[in-house]
Amino acid sequence: MAAEIKPKLGGETKMKTGLIWFNGHTVPQEEAKVSVLTHAMHYGTSVFEGIRAYETPKGPAVFRLSEHVERFFHSAKVMMFEMPFTPEQVSEGILSVIRENGYKSCYIRPLAWMGATSLGVNPLPNNPAEVMVAAWEWGTYLGDEAVRKGAKLITSSWARFPANVMPGKAKVGGNYVNSALARIEAQQAGADEALLLDKEGFVAEGSGENLFFFKGKVLYAIEHSVNLMGITRDSVMAVARDLGYEVREVRATRDQLYMADEMFMVGTAAEVTPVSYLDHRAIGKGTAGEHTLKLRVAYLEAAQGRNPKYDAWLTYVR
Ligand SMILES: *Cc1c(COP(=O)(O)O)cnc(C)c1O
Repeated sequence: MAAEIKPKLGGETKMKTGLIWFNGHTVPQEEAKVSVLTHAMHYGTSVFEGIRAYETPKGPAVFRLSEHVERFFHSAKVMMFEMPFTPEQVSEGILSVIRENGYKSCYIRPLAWMGATSLGVNPLPNNPAEVMVAAWEWGTYLGDEAVRKGAKLITSSWARFPANVMPGKAKVGGNYVNSALARIEAQQAGADEALLLDKEGFVAEGSGENLFFFKGKVLYAIEHSVNLMGITRDSVMAVARDLGYEVREVRATRDQLYMADEMFMVGTAAEVTPVSYLDHRAIGKGTAGEHTLKLRVAYLEAAQGRNPKYDAWLTYVR
């Protein structure tokens, strides 16, 4: 006898986020719902940001809010979204989500997407974007162990897409099919994260992180080329220069990384995460590197309002 098949009803969410800013109003998570005919769900036509707020001695503060909101609107521009809100309104939405949920520190996810007005591939011209901001309390992205011992990476068989294939400077939803495939492959191989190469075989980035390595005391940042221009990358380069490190931007190969003394990944979610192994080869001593950890501490001091020099990077939540 065939077992009874119970239809699985969608919409059940394991994630708890509390209040969400949804098209201009803060509503309980249960009320922030969209149609299954949402264009973005069919074709990846969404843009998003990943932002963090940290607990500082003067209360919660958002790290580099204006740069994130600016990139959000640039991503929307690439997709020709008609945004129904101004950058100021989205910034205020971000602050209100933190305030109204009472978070001390959190990860913030603004998202804009093409809604359910048409299912032709071309969403224009009658599909103004919808916008939401959710936030949740979130620790280290790759786990505390990865931060302490260094993450293990493998080079993915999925390459980072060339600039004439996908808009890699924009955080567009559809781009992350590439990231998800690489990340799944890494996990299946027992690694913490994937390293993607560009189509010429040079090092591109992680599935959601920019990459750096040290040779002696010289810090090498993997150049932008096809990569997302990370705000953490920019912050880490500034902090490293202030600490007296020489910083160079390079196009590197994977064997160059095998020969590095230290390696690490950066991103809003990953912050500064040391890399101990790449493709089963120990990087340096196969642990979290000394200079990397120094940069991690300095970066977090800046983000957590413990170094007045970087106060201009913080927007306090009042
Ligand atoms: C978001 C992201 C990064 C990191 O950018 P940050 O601005 O530092 O958060 C790096 N690479 C990709 C593909 C990303 O999506």
